[in-house]
Amino acid sequence: MLSYQHIYHAGNLADVQKHALLAWTLRYLTQKDKPISYIETHSGRGLYQLDAAEAVRTGEAQAGILRAQREGWFGPDHPMSDVLRRVQASHGALAYPGSPLIAAHELREHDSLHFAELHPREYAALELATSAFGAKTYPQDGFELAQSLLPPTPRRGMMLIDPSYEVKADYERLPKLIAKLHRKWNVGIIALWYPVLTDGRHKPMLAALKAQGFPKAFCHEVRFPPAREGHRMVGSGMFFLNAPFGIEDEAARLTTLFQKL
Ligand code: SAM
Repeated sequence: MLSYQHIYHAGNLADVQKHALLAWTLRYLTQKDKPISYIETHSGRGLYQLDAAEAVRTGEAQAGILRAQREGWFGPDHPMSDVLRRVQASHGALAYPGSPLIAAHELREHDSLHFAELHPREYAALELATSAFGAKTYPQDGFELAQSLLPPTPRRGMMLIDPSYEVKADYERLPKLIAKLHRKWNVGIIALWYPVLTDGRHKPMLAALKAQGFPKAFCHEVRFPPAREGHRMVGSGMFFLNAPFGIEDEAARLTTLFQKL
């Protein structure tokens, strides 16, 4: 049984990096009129309230998105600011969009949204948060969904893989799985989030991904203080294949901001 619940971590510094790069990429993809597909394998519930007891207990959002907003990390034209404004207008000043809701707000009517989520309670909330956007939600394993949907229609688009890494075997199986997904969908942008851990557990996975020689591979990592003393996550990484043109500039901007923490 899965025990991970993203509400404890929503809006933390890892989310800030992941969601900023996601929003930026989706804005890039929607510059052209052509429709796109967006697929997410590990969606979470889509909408979070940062004053919920779970979020307050860890204080991760306070050190993450709430600090970033106070310090003006995202200018008025940044897609993150746009999404935050719209979600907060509909759901309250402390509402925070998970990645599915960021995609739902960034994409257009003629785009396709597919979200997998295995946890029944998270799934029910996800369905509620995204149904108004015409999203298709799937209460099933995200890796299976990804394989069954590829290549998607429309063919342009992006997949986000954001596992909770509760299943430690994920670190070993992801490089092969991503290679398989890429063979089925060689034009798709595939983005994988991973934690930067003190014990270096993520490193063999990253080395295996880099060794595959994916086209337009791009990797971005930021470091930050651990959420609690002894917490093993000290940074956040995103690995892209078919990375969008210009993402290096947004990544470099984020690096500078994280270095000031
Ligand atoms: N992507 C979300 C965001 O940024 O807002 C956060 C997702 S959270 C890190 C990971 C989610 O994956 C959890 O809600 C968990 O229940 C779900 N999950 C875990 N294993 C899964 C699987 N095999 N297939 C689909 N969902 C899974």
